[in-house]
Amino acid sequence: MAAYLAKAGIQCGIFERELFPRPHVGESLVPSSTRVFRDLDFLPVMESNGFVHKFGAAWTAAERPRVFETANWHDLAAEEQVSLRFEERDQAGVAQPYTYHVDRGLFDLLLLQHAEKLGAKVYSGVSVRGVDLSEPDHAGLVFAMGNKDFRIRARMVVDASGRRTVVGNQMKWRIKDPTFDQYAIHTWFDGYDRGALADSQEQGEYIFIHFLPVTNTWIWQIPITETVTSIGVVTQKKNFANQRESRERFFWDCVSTRPDLLSSLRAAEQVRPFKDEGDYSYAMKQITGDRLMLIGDAARFVDPIFSTGVSIALNCSRFGSRDIVGAMESGDFRRDSFETYESTIKRGTRNWYNFISVYYRLNVLFTAFINDKRYRLDVLKLLQGDVYDDDEPEVLTRMREIVTEVERNPRHVWHDALGDLTANVFVTATQS
Ligand SMILES: Cc1cc2nc3c(=O)[nH]c(=O)nc-3n(C[C@H](O)[C@H](O)[C@H](O)COP(=O)(O)OP(=O)(O)OC[C@H]3O[C@@H](n4cnc5c(N)ncnc54)[C@H](O)[C@@H]3O)c2cc1C
Repeated sequence: MAAYLAKAGIQCGIFERELFPRPHVGESLVPSSTRVFRDLDFLPVMESNGFVHKFGAAWTAAERPRVFETANWHDLAAEEQVSLRFEERDQAGVAQPYTYHVDRGLFDLLLLQHAEKLGAKVYSGVSVRGVDLSEPDHAGLVFAMGNKDFRIRARMVVDASGRRTVVGNQMKWRIKDPTFDQYAIHTWFDGYDRGALADSQEQGEYIFIHFLPVTNTWIWQIPITETVTSIGVVTQKKNFANQRESRERFFWDCVSTRPDLLSSLRAAEQVRPFKDEGDYSYAMKQITGDRLMLIGDAARFVDPIFSTGVSIALNCSRFGSRDIVGAMESGDFRRDSFETYESTIKRGTRNWYNFISVYYRLNVLFTAFINDKRYRLDVLKLLQGDVYDDDEPEVLTRMREIVTEVERNPRHVWHDALGDLTANVFVTATQS
């Protein structure tokens, strides 16, 4: 956001509590990020720093579930692995057939430095306490340095504080997601054979999502460098809480349900301590206010199954900066000035949310749609991160209709495959 604003000639400051580089989860991007890099002249920086090119994505099944074999709705649903290449669908404004996997320590540092180079002022090691909106003609930002509090004035404040949701907490806008209570534990391995579960050589640099035979549980495999791979287990929090053993033990227990994966990981060297993230999905009652805008995770967090978070954060800045530039020109910083931003992001995250909900509710449907040429490119569009233009893409409507059909018919070949995590979720989702 600071890079966009500085580039538009707007004076802005970034207040960041950490000293970069610092590690961060969220390492695999989707192609809609590329438009932001292009707008900000950041693509040469991505290329010169050697981030791994991500050409596609693959999903592997835990086992050959009965429903896959008996499903007659679609022959190809019997696949054990499905994959997609981004170049299969042209994307307006995206001229390259790949996106990136990133070491977030380096990536976030480079973005920060880029914003600074464009003219933003960066204050690192400064923890923001909150906003002061008591005066009508400016916003106050309250921050701590050492054990002292300071306050500065600005025309407006953008909250980009991630899952700490500084402003959302202060304003009591945060609503915990009633459905998703996912938990993740992750680390990096050096020397893991990424081809071990791949169908072909070209998939080596894909993101892999490996399903485990534990309900709603999966593993990500994300290339970080030529030899280092990020591996994370995502499960429902209740699965984790039920385990008495240590977190590390839980990780290995999960991995051991996929013996091929286990042996490849055991042969590699773990090069980072385990880190866990819990209970992370939420929405906000509103994501703008008078002199206020919330972006990225500070605005909403949706389950990371489709590697969406960074792209949403980047696109929040792309759309949000337009409204801020407009407010600067008109001098009107009331909430209405940010209406286009708020409706665009709400539309995009609602589409993501519904897509993820279908996915958890009836996984076999996702597989079938990817393998059906009537729907493949429409699903790919969502996976490329192009979710902001339709109120509800047709492919999602079709998926929901099929889910309803399967729910209503206990004799449907897919009925047994219905997951319990997102039952009734659409009622909640359409209300948000
Ligand atoms: C398990 C898991 C897996 C994920 N996998 C992926 C993935 O593969 N791909 C993907 O795109 N996304 C993924 N995500 C999501 C991704 O991590 C986030 O969506 C993304 O990092 C959001 O970026 P952001 O800039 O909004 O927030 P952040 O990157 O969290 O940045 C927020 C910044 O604000 C600073 N800050 C916080 N509080 C204060 C304060 N009080 N004062 C000053 N500074 C403050 C923090 O130090 C931080 O640097 C995943 C998330 C989880 C939990």
